[in-house]
Amino acid sequence: METFAPYELAHAQQLDATDALPARRGDFHVPQHAGSDVVYFTGNSLGLQPEAAEAALRTELNDWAEHGVEGHFRAQHPWVSYHERFAQGLSHLVGAKANEVVAMNALTVNLHLLLVSFYRPSGKRSKILCEAKAFPSDQYALASQVRFHGGDPAVDIIEVAPREGSSVIEEADIEAILRDRGDEIALVMMGGVQYFTGQWLDMPRITAAAHAAGALCGFDLAHAVGNVPLDLHAWNVDFACWCTYKYLNSGPGAVAGAFVHERHVGDDAVPRFEGWWGHNAKRRFLMEPQFDSMGTAEAWQMSNAPVFNMAIHAIALEQFTAAGMAALRAKSLRLTAYLEAGIAAVAKHNGARLEVITPANPARRGCQLSLVAHGFGQELFQALTDAGVVVDWREPNVIRMAPVPMYNTFEDIARFVHILKSATQPH
Ligand SMILES: *Cc1c(COP(=O)(O)O)cnc(C)c1O
Repeated sequence: METFAPYELAHAQQLDATDALPARRGDFHVPQHAGSDVVYFTGNSLGLQPEAAEAALRTELNDWAEHGVEGHFRAQHPWVSYHERFAQGLSHLVGAKANEVVAMNALTVNLHLLLVSFYRPSGKRSKILCEAKAFPSDQYALASQVRFHGGDPAVDIIEVAPREGSSVIEEADIEAILRDRGDEIALVMMGGVQYFTGQWLDMPRITAAAHAAGALCGFDLAHAVGNVPLDLHAWNVDFACWCTYKYLNSGPGAVAGAFVHERHVGDDAVPRFEGWWGHNAKRRFLMEPQFDSMGTAEAWQMSNAPVFNMAIHAIALEQFTAAGMAALRAKSLRLTAYLEAGIAAVAKHNGARLEVITPANPARRGCQLSLVAHGFGQELFQALTDAGVVVDWREPNVIRMAPVPMYNTFEDIARFVHILKSATQPH
């Protein structure tokens, strides 16, 4: 019984009440189950809706109704420069200079646009090194880029897999491939935080190894941004992209982001697909035939801002700026450790094999834990769902759960631990 003392609801509520960074639970809409909040552990898939989203959207609708086309200049946040609302907040979040980041398009679109610039196979140096079992969209993007350049994905994509019996990718194995075959590799492209296992790769170490081999290095930060602290500029990363509907709570299909290191943004030798919103802003409406680059990450921006979509991203981003990524990370470490210990207590109590395949070292992971419940199939996932827990099931047998520091509470975790305990009882 004592093992579960830390998970008594009163104790969990006490932890919530006294935490250095209280959850901003009241600032979000939480789906309901049987008259109370669900245990929402899928902020890694679609973050909850900020309460302020509706007013932000309404402001833009009103400005459009009132001003029509003049809203480009007269709206509360003039649409002509709307994208400029994001550089500051994004630069803090990913550790970049303001001229290195831009909010635009969607994640896979940005990945393609950045590959146009930074995957330039040439002679023997034609290959991409990536993680095995990357998110499917990334696999399709990389394979289609290779084919676009006349290559063969079976030859030109090298995957690094976890070692036998492990779920974790060893950075040393990435370094070894770069040492042995570095002269064949044009680009190293990885998920900063692996979506399936939740592993946070050592991004500066991988970037340094890629550069030492003469390759460029980019990251997909879908599961990293808003989850772990990033320092892209200092880490010398060449480029990165991310979506904002996961940890950044910006809504389904929300505008994505991109980072291009300062050393590339003004380099005319870097090829790029271009549009008028990448043209020098001072001369954008002179309708000149020749492209005159912004000379910042905005040069990759093609179209004018999708304002309705971005309005929500703007207020969601403000919440991150207000809370601060360092404080959020510190809170995240407390929450995930509490969840991890609760799962271990349940496993011990029930004699169940509940294996967390996420790295045990908190420095090698974000908030997500990926659980393999040996001997339990998808019916465990169903039992959790029926009890009001929102987690996700990934084939073949993984349950992913992400307690996010922005709105999850110790109480959410305590409730989850009790539900997991009854769902995995020996029978
Ligand atoms: C969520 C996710 C995507 C989704 O791509 P969209 O273009 O936003 O649909 C792609 N890659 C990774 C690694 C993801 O986690």
